Amino acid sequence: MLVIMQQDSTVEQCAKVEDVIRDMGYEPLPVPGESRTAICVTGNKGPVDPSHLQRLAGVRECVSVTRPYKLVSREVKPESTVVDVAGVEIGGSDPVLIAGPCSVETPERTLAIADAVKRAGGQLFRAGAFKPRTSPYSFQGFGYEALDTLAEVREQVGLPIVSEVVDTDAVGPMSEVVDVLQIGSRNMHNFALIKKLSMVRMPILLKRGLSASLEEWMLVAEYLLSAGNHQVILCERGIRGLAGHARNIFDLNVVPLVRSISHLPIIADPSHGVGDRSRVRAMARAAVACGAQGLLVEAHTTPDSAFTDAAQTIDMDSLSGIHRDIRGLKGLETLSLDQ
Ligand code: PEP
Ligand code: MN
Repeated sequence: MLVIMQQDSTVEQCAKVEDVIRDMGYEPLPVPGESRTAICVTGNKGPVDPSHLQRLAGVRECVSVTRPYKLVSREVKPESTVVDVAGVEIGGSDPVLIAGPCSVETPERTLAIADAVKRAGGQLFRAGAFKPRTSPYSFQGFGYEALDTLAEVREQVGLPIVSEVVDTDAVGPMSEVVDVLQIGSRNMHNFALIKKLSMVRMPILLKRGLSASLEEWMLVAEYLLSAGNHQVILCERGIRGLAGHARNIFDLNVVPLVRSISHLPIIADPSHGVGDRSRVRAMARAAVACGAQGLLVEAHTTPDSAFTDAAQTIDMDSLSGIHRDIRGLKGLETLSLDQ
């Protein structure tokens, strides 16, 4: 249930609505919005009786919310959310290009790659300090040391930084250095991490879990929003499938669907979605054409020597090509996916 307040409602009237919601045994959550003031009723197991609420001063109307996720849905917030990352708008009118090597490498190599990413048109630099690897014998990332490298990139190259946080202990130190904290696929259901990240007030890039349904993914975003972190960017990165021809099934179906059911920005990661560099550019193009508001692409100056995920890592010429492609696709926004 969503209680929509009249345009001229007062702070006292909103507080009274919140008190009544609490008296009914539910939890009120104010929904930030430019065009209206609204209060979401959460914690109900079934339909909420709107009769008490409707009669309160300042209330315009009560509308029922049909989906299990509320704050992330357009039913509750019709206008699209734009997440500002150090001046780069994600979810605004232009698709955003986020790129970098899978892992933070040595400081020299990482700085050189970041510089090349910037020259190729990348707006945010993405590299993992901590790598959640399938095998304990694989390179796990340089960890805290790599955070110093990322800080150097930020300062010397001037690109905002995106990096994955794999456990709750790293949230504090990482939030000092990076501009966006990534929740990786393997951690989409790490509730201790999700709850900790719901308390920070900085942008979160929420990757879809390896086998997560749309509803499970949206409900994790709901955890973040319901505790007050509204700066959430969704990322489609492919889900497990039986196909031997690709690392994952890159589920571009979900992109226009998310645009219509949620106000949160959605970007796509064709690198993990496809797993093979020869098809990354084609699928990057497809992702933006169907409504992705940005791309996360693994790119390197010498892709074959990348510490991790070399097979799907593209070179800088391909990254420039993707940059040109997405500029050319801008006109497709007239498809009006935000309904
Ligand atoms: C990554 O972004 O390098 C990564 C490990 O991705 P995912 O969590 O999507 O597998
Ligand atoms: Mn990777």
